[in-house]
Amino acid sequence: MPLYAELHRHLGGSVVPRILWRYFQRQTDPLTHKFADYDDFEEFYTRSRNTLDEYLELHTLVEHVQTVQTLPYFIYRLIRGAYIFENLAYLELRYTPYLRTSEQLSQSERIDQMAQIVEIVGQASQVQDYPMVTSQILCMHARLPYAVNKAIVDLAAQRKDYVCGVDLAGGDAHYGERLAEFVGLYQYARSLGLNTTGHLYETSDGCYPELLPYLMRIGHGIHIPLKYPELLKEVAQRQQCLEVCPTTYLKTGTLEDIYQLKVVFDSCFEAGVDIAICTDNAGLNNVRLPFEYENLLTQDIIDFEQMQACQDAAFRHAFAWPHQQHPASLLTGLLKNPRDEVVAANGTPRTKD
Ligand SMILES: [Zn+2]
Repeated sequence: MPLYAELHRHLGGSVVPRILWRYFQRQTDPLTHKFADYDDFEEFYTRSRNTLDEYLELHTLVEHVQTVQTLPYFIYRLIRGAYIFENLAYLELRYTPYLRTSEQLSQSERIDQMAQIVEIVGQASQVQDYPMVTSQILCMHARLPYAVNKAIVDLAAQRKDYVCGVDLAGGDAHYGERLAEFVGLYQYARSLGLNTTGHLYETSDGCYPELLPYLMRIGHGIHIPLKYPELLKEVAQRQQCLEVCPTTYLKTGTLEDIYQLKVVFDSCFEAGVDIAICTDNAGLNNVRLPFEYENLLTQDIIDFEQMQACQDAAFRHAFAWPHQQHPASLLTGLLKNPRDEVVAANGTPRTKD
């Protein structure tokens, strides 16, 4: 039975259009009047954008409705959908906690409120009826000041029960002038024992080799094999995993054709660099993880074995997967030998009748 691990999903971009539309309707939000009907809204919400910046603008639409009061509503539906429709056994959910705090507060009050947001997301992610291992990645943001980003790292270190790592987001073209600052923040995060990933080498404007040594995984990283394949050797040596999110590159105009990813996969397999296939923004992109797998297969970008290698890599590189094994091997034993289960449960062997 296939069970999957999702390593790269944004809380903002993971709200599927139908759920967001229903929410706006229930709240009688004036936004609903802008659209003739649901189809009109879905077309607006999920259509391709010309640039990554334009695409990221859409996050603000969702961030603005994800508040202390509404986060449990959205997260419950996210977990339910991920369990029922995507077969997720493991989910790392990432977001910038500062952007869920109340805009009426001062910067320092908003920093204080971030702890409450992490608590709410942590509790709301534990849904009894839809069991899966979940953890949070807190995103530093390219457009937020140093003090906020440092507080995000500190919070991640304080709440390791809920948080498994830190990330840097907000558009990789915007790190340039503040590169030394972000290097310092990553060094600080590593010194606190935090796991690290970061949106890097996603676009051709976001290639900063200075940041690479501090990352345990690379958010996207597709422009390493596409433009700087000479770096693959050191990426392999550092055992860094690329989080590749195929649909995003078409939605952001980063790639023109999904087939361009064939070079990414082929070069990485050849160099011994692991890839985890992820959705990034399952809601905005309007696709779920099993579709990403199937799409790569049907487009002949990867073969079946490579797909399974990527699925295994996702569990190996998961920051908070608590088991030694892939869940399939745990389940296969149970499904094939139901008697073992009875023995294990009662301590004494029992026949089925
Ligand atoms: Zn992302």
